[in-house]
Amino acid sequence: MRAAMDSPLTAHAERTARRRTFAIISHPDAGKTTLTEKLLLFGGAIQLAGTVKGRKASRHATSDWMALEQQRGISITTSVMQFPYNDCIVNLLDTPGHEDFSEDTYRTLTAVDSALMVIDAAKGVEPRTIKLMEVCRLRDTPIVTFVNKLDRDGRPPLELLDEVEKVLGIRCTPVTWPVGMGRDFKGVYHLLEDRFYLYSGDKLRVSEIETVDGLDAPGIAERLGAPYQQLRDEIELLQMAGTEFNLDEYRAALLTPVFFGSAINNFGVRELLNGFTTWAPPPQSRHARCPQGERDVQPVEEKFTGFVFKIQANMDPRHRDRVAFLRVCSGVYRKGMNLHSVRLGGPVRVSQALVFMAADREAVEEAYPGDIIGLHNHGTIAIGDSFSEGEVLNFTGIPNFAPELFRRVVLKDPLKAKQLNKGLDQLSEEGATQVYRPLINNDIVLGAVGVLQFDVVQYRLKDEYNVEAVFEPVQVHTARWVEADDAKQLKEFRDKNDARLALDHYGQLVYLASSSVNLSMTQERFPAVRFLQTREHG
Ligand code: GDP
Repeated sequence: MRAAMDSPLTAHAERTARRRTFAIISHPDAGKTTLTEKLLLFGGAIQLAGTVKGRKASRHATSDWMALEQQRGISITTSVMQFPYNDCIVNLLDTPGHEDFSEDTYRTLTAVDSALMVIDAAKGVEPRTIKLMEVCRLRDTPIVTFVNKLDRDGRPPLELLDEVEKVLGIRCTPVTWPVGMGRDFKGVYHLLEDRFYLYSGDKLRVSEIETVDGLDAPGIAERLGAPYQQLRDEIELLQMAGTEFNLDEYRAALLTPVFFGSAINNFGVRELLNGFTTWAPPPQSRHARCPQGERDVQPVEEKFTGFVFKIQANMDPRHRDRVAFLRVCSGVYRKGMNLHSVRLGGPVRVSQALVFMAADREAVEEAYPGDIIGLHNHGTIAIGDSFSEGEVLNFTGIPNFAPELFRRVVLKDPLKAKQLNKGLDQLSEEGATQVYRPLINNDIVLGAVGVLQFDVVQYRLKDEYNVEAVFEPVQVHTARWVEADDAKQLKEFRDKNDARLALDHYGQLVYLASSSVNLSMTQERFPAVRFLQTREHG
């Protein structure tokens, strides 16, 4: 109510400050889906556990493309869920679990302000956790850690934290600490609140979790038995190690607060959510290039800006359109406003913008920095596109990765070349694959980071564009975007290597190396040419 009486800008700042936009990162099976569901449950966004899976299932049932996901038993899509918690509006961005779609995950991580890392107490730090952490480090994304599955026997908590520190290179500050585990799991002790949260083994509702105040509460030692003594010893060790929580260091991604619990048993999740919403940063500024140079776009700026980090097709199979997910970076999105596409240099018509509530999606009236809106379009919006109210600026840091797998496209019916090209162009704008057109012949080479991407492209070409294509092996080992400051040297390079050069969808020159030896020899021969492993959109 108060916000309504304030000046518009103050209301804007206040609403922005309440946003928490984050993604969950984890190795498959650590409990990301379960935790997502419990966060929504505790956030009051859903009534019953099971809704997230149920929602996924119904989406599968109504979409052909999604059927591929179902066949494979993997989740390809990224979804966005918004729910209120305490004073905050939480935007949770889901990421695909399968590593073949890691490009999608990386781009999603450019749209968040913080991340939640889930670790399986029995398995500790796993390969995908390491990879995702590396991506978070690129932007110094603050991380909160949840150690899951304490209801099962796992590794000693001190050992787990030691592993996180050593392998992931981030200091740990335990916020809760487990009392026993597996069959002896008694609950957690909250180090900052000096309070026990007791575990009964049942799936309890939030309000039913018993708490006891004070590490020395009367009778607590007897009640908890041997795990209590162990807790005392461990706390002493922690105190000696000096691991106090420090907000600035968390925000600078130097330390991670750690919570313990059991997502499936609704245990430890509320404490996690409380800590997370209190400490996680509000929407941060975003870096952009503009004609005058570069600048940081601040969320409190009055004018609307945002960028597209994800495009998803076929969410509604009755309409063959696509939804572009845009993160609002500054200003306010208001229903019906003109969205200026910087790439196209003019307004883009979108029939409707959606906001994704946990249970459903609905038309959005207003969206603030940190919020994600979904824009329906028929191919006018590409990944990495920046939007504004007219200002020319391109948000940086939305990556395209040099693919590691390549295939040559062979069309079954040569008369379908036009549809094939259209389909591949659209799919590459969505980030589903990368398309290369060699300079010296009419081949089309596709590049992907994971092999399942090819399956998706083949399936969608047939399903959406009615094109049957087969993909053949091709003698390409790796790709590099090439550029040089000196036009003459670039031309010489181009003339001598045209057999291995191609243009990508955006017309950028790409060197398709036949082997790593071939790449390094070419690099040596042309020192003035830069061979880039990533390219930014926009
Ligand atoms: P994801 O692949 O990271 O999304 O993991 P899921 O949420 O699908 O969980 C993987 C498996 O671990 C499922 O069988 C879950 O039921 C199980 N699981 C998740 N949380 C817990 C937990 O707290 N305790 C136990 N024992 N199992 C869990």
